[in-house]
This record gives sequence, structure tokens and C-alpha cells, in this order.
Amino acid sequence: ASSSSSSSSSSNVRVVARIRPLAQYEIENGSKPIVKSLPSVDSLSNKENSIPQISSEPEVLEVQSSEKRWFELDAVLDGNSSQREVYYKSGAQQAVTQDIFKGFNCTILAYGQTGAGKTFTMGTASGKDSSDTDGIIPRACADLFEQIDTRCDGNAQVELSYLEIYNEEIRDLMCTDGSGGDLKIRETLNGEVYVSGLSSRPVQSPKEIGHYMEEASHRRVVASTKMNAVSSRSHAICVLRIQGVLEDSTKFSAKLTLVDLAGSERIKKTQASGKRAAEGININKGLFVLGQVVSALSEQRPKYKRKPPYRDSKLTRLLQDSLGGNSRTIMVACVSPADFNIDETINTLRYATSAR
Ligand code: ADP
Ligand code: MG
Repeated sequence: ASSSSSSSSSSNVRVVARIRPLAQYEIENGSKPIVKSLPSVDSLSNKENSIPQISSEPEVLEVQSSEKRWFELDAVLDGNSSQREVYYKSGAQQAVTQDIFKGFNCTILAYGQTGAGKTFTMGTASGKDSSDTDGIIPRACADLFEQIDTRCDGNAQVELSYLEIYNEEIRDLMCTDGSGGDLKIRETLNGEVYVSGLSSRPVQSPKEIGHYMEEASHRRVVASTKMNAVSSRSHAICVLRIQGVLEDSTKFSAKLTLVDLAGSERIKKTQASGKRAAEGININKGLFVLGQVVSALSEQRPKYKRKPPYRDSKLTRLLQDSLGGNSRTIMVACVSPADFNIDETINTLRYATSAR
């Protein structure tokens, strides 16, 4: 295999799938696992490597019901994959340790129905010492500060913002006086998108980020639906602005955006009505437009290039300078292996493969 560090396609968008293990309650109620990854030559030969390699070839996921269906992704992580493996094979590790320091804005998003493993995959910055269960966020924060220590010689600043989009409304999760609701997106003369009035805090360690995020998580809007006792209907967006000077005096500045998207399930299934149904429509609008944007970005035949419709939702407008252009995008499509979830699983995989 080549030692090239670039992703399999020439595009700056990488889409991977993660299949979570069957949950205990699913085993108990007789659910059958119907989603699996087909082993690639790459993954077989890499099994014992201490550092998981980014696959250079697409990987295939199989859904087996009345018929078999296959989906091709940049990587497929199954129920046996560790959090560490997901961090590496999704491309997150490379984005954080390399691309950020070259000045690329990097965005990592978790997509999928409620219960599919988005929050588990992204993780919350626990602030604890890196443990096996830590998701992408705490791993990224740890690597980021480690790289800064070794490469910037004290010459770097990191600022944290944390917000959510709920019902097409932006809320500041780090605002302590309760005034952080319905913030507006604005643009500077040179095209930089920002949220007017959004808090940001300088941070010096992963632990500090963990502390702020833990505090902020209590300000999230959560509403219960029939699918999950407490299900998040909002997009949670953590933004780290990094700037510094490398040892050879090159300056860099970049944003690392980590997004735990709202559940992608269709509103019918949860039998929500009234206010909840209206939420569903708006939330799906963000996800819908995101799909269109990512798909337009990953289009490799210039002839068909569409202009990504960033302006059609708050989510994509906010991410405008972190998706496409001079940036790297990683989408982790999370799916359940259970037969019961097949419709949502197929929807998620269609979304993911069209984004690729
Ligand atoms: P979502 O955020 O998409 O709604 P969660 O991340 O909360 O889903 O996952 C639902 C449940 O499944 C949680 O109890 C979580 O701990 C568990 N889970 C998800 N993914 C995994 C995994 N890869 N390994 C073990 N447990 C998982
Ligand atoms: Mg969640």
C-alpha cells in the first residue's frame, strides 16, 4: 500500500459508516443484526497494527433483509471497532494533527437516527484522562493540545464556542446569564461567517474544554419523543478556533468544528404532532440542506458542479466556511444493526452515500 496520507478520493469530504453493537434490550426482544461490514483486504492485513490505518480503498457495508443491499463508503466501522479505531479510520486524527496546522478548517459531523450512536461517537469532552470509551471530541482535544505543545512552543491560542441550533434558532450554550437565545448569523466584508454575540472562551487544556462543555450541556434543549426517553432534537456544535506560529515561523489559523447532529429519523415514526412535529420539519431542513451541500461538495465531475445551497438553513450557513473551499469534512453516519431499524438505516446510508 502507498504511504500517501491523503484520503481515497481527491475530494475533501470523507464519509464513513459506524455500526453500533446490538443493545442489550434489542438482544432481549429478539432483534436480529442485519447490518455488517464486508472485510476489505486492507482491514484484514491491518488488524494487528497498533495505529489503525486510514483505508485507501472504499469499504463496503452490507444490509441483509429480504434482499441484500451494499453501500460503499470511505470506511466502515462495525460493532467491534474501538473508539480509537473510529478516531483514526474516520480521518479525524489526521485532520486534527495535520490539516488544522496547515490552516484547513476541519469539520467532523455525526449523522443518524436517535439511538444510533452519534453522541457515543462524538463523545462529550469528559475532561478525564483519555479512556477507552472517549469519543472523537476528547481525543481531538487531547491531540490538539499535544500538537500545539510540540509544534508551537507556547505560541498558540485556542478559543472555544459551543452552541446549538434548535428549530432554526441559534442558542449560545456558553452564555451564563441566560441571554444566549436566537442569535443571528452575520458575515464580515471578507466573507467570514460569524454568530453575532456568541460567547467564546480561551482554553488551555482538554480538561478546561471538558469543564466548559459539561457545564454547557446542561443548557441544551432536550425534549422527549416516543422513540427515546430523552432525545436530542437539536444540533450541538462545538467550535475550536486555533491560531499559532509553528517552529519554522509559519503562522496558521483554522477552525475545528465538531457536530453532534439532531436525530435524522422521520417524524412519522415518532408519532409526534403539534409543536414537536414542527421541530421535526425544521430540524430535517438543516439535515436536508446539509446533505445537499455535502453532496455538491463531493461532486468530482466539474461539469455537474452545483453551487452548494449554504444559505438554505442555519446549520449550513453557519458551517459555510468550514465545509468546502479550503476545508476538510468528515461525516460519520451512525447506524443501528437491528432489523427493526432497517428503514432508518437505509435512509441514513443513502444520505451518506449520496454525500460522498
Ligand atoms: P444518539 O446520540 O445517536 O441518539 P447514543 O450515542 O446516545 O445515540 O447511543 C445510544 C445508546 O447506545 C447509548 O446507550 C450508547 O452508549 C450506546 N452505544 C452507541 N454506540 C455504541 C458503541 N459503538 N458501543 C457501545 N455502545 C454504544
Ligand atoms: Mg445523542
